[in-house]
Amino acid sequence: MLFDIVTIFPHFFDSSLKDGVVRRAIEADILKVRTVNLRDFTTDRHRTTDDRPFGGGDGMVMKPEPIYKALDVLKKEPPEARVILLSPRGKLFDQALAGELAQLQRLILICGRYEGVDERIREHCVDIELSVGDYVLSGGEIAALVVIDAVSRLIPGVLGCESSAENDSFSDGLLEFSQYTRPRVFNDWEVPEVLLSGNHAKIAKWRRKQSLGLTYEQRPELLNSARLDEKDIKYLRSLGWEES
Ligand code: SAH
Repeated sequence: MLFDIVTIFPHFFDSSLKDGVVRRAIEADILKVRTVNLRDFTTDRHRTTDDRPFGGGDGMVMKPEPIYKALDVLKKEPPEARVILLSPRGKLFDQALAGELAQLQRLILICGRYEGVDERIREHCVDIELSVGDYVLSGGEIAALVVIDAVSRLIPGVLGCESSAENDSFSDGLLEFSQYTRPRVFNDWEVPEVLLSGNHAKIAKWRRKQSLGLTYEQRPELLNSARLDEKDIKYLRSLGWEES
């Protein structure tokens, strides 16, 4: 999969892609991440990428021409790409969307700065406007990294063990169960006995209950769209859950 990041800060990505899962995927040629310096698509001496907003107001707005030109050049290259604009006004990025994007061959990510990007780019050149959460970042670069990281780990072959993404939080609409490792006792804090029992059926049951209980406590709204069977529903009701 290929990610092209359109940004005025290409060096922002230098260190962040050098570690962990993403780095290994890049080395294994499963993933390629390129940065495109927006200033290379300006025509003036100062390499200007922003200007004052029409109608007045604070801050600067990213000019449409450099972004348009960068996209024009990128889109002429195969494979076909989905163009994403990072923006707090966009569709909320979640695990399901990460899974959908992981099926694609190429994404172009446009990183805004200042007050954002001239609206005409979104209207005419963008396939998906994407937000990584209901808060405002100072630039789309961090949001682009969030998307790259979450999408990459869902591409087959990127994670060492395929099943580790299957159990992750959100994969079936629930939060993941709690995990423990050695030592068995630390500061008098013990690992739940059942995990040491070697009884896999019992462990699976305990983990399912944990998942359900945690989701009910922390993110009850997720339960409305989670994949639940009769047993799950019965257990949740015993905790006080009422379907809405
Ligand atoms: N004035 C804009 C915010 C601009 S923030 C507004 O209120 O909607 C500057 C840039 O940071 C945006 O163009 C976008 O690319 C990025 N950004 C900020 N918050 C984001 C979020 N939650 N998700 C994705 N991108 C975000």
